[in-house]
Amino acid sequence: MRVQTFSILAGSEACNARCPFCISRMTPPLGVRLKEPAVNWRNFEVACRLAKSCGVTTAMFTGKGEPTLFPDQITKYLEKMGKYEFPLIELQTNGIVLAEKIDSYDRHLKTWYEKGMTTIAVSIVHYEPEKNREVYVPYKKNYIDLPRLIGTLHEYGFSVRLTCIAANGFVDSSRTLDKLLCFAQENKVEQLTLTPVNKPDAEHNGHLESWNWTTAHCLRDEQLGEIQAHLESNGSKLMVLGHGAVVYDLHGQNICLNNCLSVQPDADGMRNIIFFPDGHIRYYWQYEGAILL
Ligand code: SF4
Repeated sequence: MRVQTFSILAGSEACNARCPFCISRMTPPLGVRLKEPAVNWRNFEVACRLAKSCGVTTAMFTGKGEPTLFPDQITKYLEKMGKYEFPLIELQTNGIVLAEKIDSYDRHLKTWYEKGMTTIAVSIVHYEPEKNREVYVPYKKNYIDLPRLIGTLHEYGFSVRLTCIAANGFVDSSRTLDKLLCFAQENKVEQLTLTPVNKPDAEHNGHLESWNWTTAHCLRDEQLGEIQAHLESNGSKLMVLGHGAVVYDLHGQNICLNNCLSVQPDADGMRNIIFFPDGHIRYYWQYEGAILL
């Protein structure tokens, strides 16, 4: 059985962004240093061994909140997993503290690079700062200087991916996608992914704000169809990934269009091994029952 990705949940549910589509954010207390959440290191070893024996090539730090709020924990994870030599090690982040506190994150970024981290994936919703501000930091006057952050991460030696959530009123057409591609190329971004915002469930399950936002902003079928047709007719298809995502080269820029369908019970085996800090190991995010340990 070959598994593509080993996802490691780092940090806690605390996040410094306020994305209206997020159901797990928790406001970090102002001025109080967050307590690093405990990790079941014994089971992390088990998860690493499992991922290695399943042929995982990519380990990805992600979180229910923002992983970079706990930089020392990321370093500990990297130290523990070093002996397994995963070739690609990625960090998913909203980029806010990396951009705003670069001086205090200098030592962390150097250490992460030395310990094998290869890629930093910064989540965005647009190429325009004001659109990103509206979604990520509506409580602030300005969004981060994203071009500067990308340049800084390149200087540390990281490869940069922009992971863009596609939403109605944001990147929702071939025209806006082309502008996003220009932004990526101007900033020498190695990889770009576009993921349509999840369509809401029939019930809001207590997450009314997120349900309202995603209902209003999920891409209509014709919008997604127009983007797909643009990529098919003007791009070169490079690869179809196991979970249905398609990677294209469009005007020399790598772009991966993610498939919203993340549960594929007919697919051959697991696609993802997910380590939770409490020691549980799962293979789908959304189902409690998809559990190995
Ligand atoms: S950056 Fe991620 S964790 Fe934070 S609020 Fe946005 S979607 Fe949620």
